[in-house]
Amino acid sequence: EKFGITQALEELGVKNINNGTSTGADWFSSGGEIESYSPVDGALIGKVKATTAEDYEKVVQTAEAAFKIWRTMPSPQRGEIVRKFNDELRRLKAPLGKLVSYEMGKSYQEGLGEVQEMIDICDFAVGLSRQLHGLTMHSERPGHRMYEQYHPLGVVGVISAFNFPVAVWSWNTALAWVCGDVCVWKGSEKTPLTSVACQNIAARVFAENGLPEGISCLITGDYTVGEMMTKDKRVPLVSATGSIRMGRKVAAAVGERLGKSLLELGGNNAIIVTPDADVKMTVIGAVFGAVGTAGQRCTSTRRLIIHESMYDKVKGAIVDAYKQLRIGNPLDENNHVGPLIDKDSVKNYQDALKKVVEEGGKIIVEGGVLEGEGYESGCYVKPAIAEAENHYEIVQHETFGPVLYMMKYSGGVENALELQNGVTQGLSSAIMTNNLREAEKFLSVEGSDCGIANVNIGTSGAEIGGAFGGEKDTGGGRESGSDAWKVYMRRQTNTINYTTELPLAQGIKFDL
Ligand code: NAD
Repeated sequence: EKFGITQALEELGVKNINNGTSTGADWFSSGGEIESYSPVDGALIGKVKATTAEDYEKVVQTAEAAFKIWRTMPSPQRGEIVRKFNDELRRLKAPLGKLVSYEMGKSYQEGLGEVQEMIDICDFAVGLSRQLHGLTMHSERPGHRMYEQYHPLGVVGVISAFNFPVAVWSWNTALAWVCGDVCVWKGSEKTPLTSVACQNIAARVFAENGLPEGISCLITGDYTVGEMMTKDKRVPLVSATGSIRMGRKVAAAVGERLGKSLLELGGNNAIIVTPDADVKMTVIGAVFGAVGTAGQRCTSTRRLIIHESMYDKVKGAIVDAYKQLRIGNPLDENNHVGPLIDKDSVKNYQDALKKVVEEGGKIIVEGGVLEGEGYESGCYVKPAIAEAENHYEIVQHETFGPVLYMMKYSGGVENALELQNGVTQGLSSAIMTNNLREAEKFLSVEGSDCGIANVNIGTSGAEIGGAFGGEKDTGGGRESGSDAWKVYMRRQTNTINYTTELPLAQGIKFDL
């Protein structure tokens, strides 16, 4: 059997492949079918039914009922449930990693890495469940005590993108669960089976512990299903990961009803290569950043801003490295670059290469769509490099594929920073330098304007311990580590008077 996928699906409890009801947990969807095709070989993997408006109503009511139970459980006990959920993730890491790889098209190693991120954030959340701290303050009034506490918000909506089909869900849910929230997840319509697999794992753990499945709900379908949630006042927080276009719509819909949104949108990430850069490290960071996951990471390297004194050397080394790249089946560990998610994405990639030439750019590593044996899905493309200028419209735009733009700067690092910050997005950024002054300038208030700024590491990938997200059109949201948990809770300030007087704040007198 091809790639062991059938076995992986069985282990994950994703049943009845290809007969129209491919889910183990299908109480949440009864509508039209969504077909999931693998970009690896173009085969139909399975079908999932979409959530209808009536299904959605049932889901939200189920979630609201579950919240009433879950919120009263002490958070360390909620942490214990997350720990058990994590045991299941550890047990099922291989089949889930494989399904991620086959349905999304990233390498098997990256599929496993994505599940590892789920495991890591769950570990983090378990510890956090005993650390949902508020502050205490000194009251200005005698005999008064003041402190703050954090309470859960309620139903948290999670909308996720195809490129991290499982990790983004867990970044949100693992924290939201220990915070006492329940979650309704709308995964990407391009990766419905990985969503079902995750839901099955969560549902089983909740059931085994006598808890309602409504703590974790799944809704399936396209943006219209997502819209049900963004417009729904019963969902106080919507965490949405995806394109900037989507973020604008979500922010407007959630803002209209004065809800909270946590936005994780597109990036346009650059590496600055200074005269003091280590060329070998630069090549590894830039090439992995640009072609890893076929350029389909929000943190993928899109632009290289290279000092003129280093330009030819770095360009030569990177062009040489591109010649070594093996493109093909991502489940084969010998390959570096797998497919794009679908043919629409291939078209966007082709359009970008056409556009950069029209705007005056020069292709230095040719792109193209691969054909023939092993490339039947039509989704495999060659990573390309173009010399371009920062102000080109296409360079300003995030093309979600393996297209890298190279440009020169002269003079000091401030000139490179101007180019780096001269885009509307603000997710990830990096500088390659051994010069302390340049590195500190890059990290200073005058430096990178991104949510992530790395020194001697590429732009791509992040650890779960830090808060993840970006500025400007990237949406401003932060999730995962540090104190990102606070967005999933409501803060309450409490003042207690233990005297027999009722003094007013600011010394105001109100005698009766
Ligand atoms: P997309 O915007 O097409 O879809 C993302 C999700 O939003 C899907 O589930 C989709 O159904 C839903 N959606 C779309 N329009 C909606 C609407 N109006 N209301 C409610 N839901 C809606 O993105 P994609 O192609 O799946 O993913 C690629 C994009 O995601 C890239 O721009 C990438 O940079 C970004 N991304 C960002 C991060 C981050 O953390 N910043 C992480 C991963 C991906």
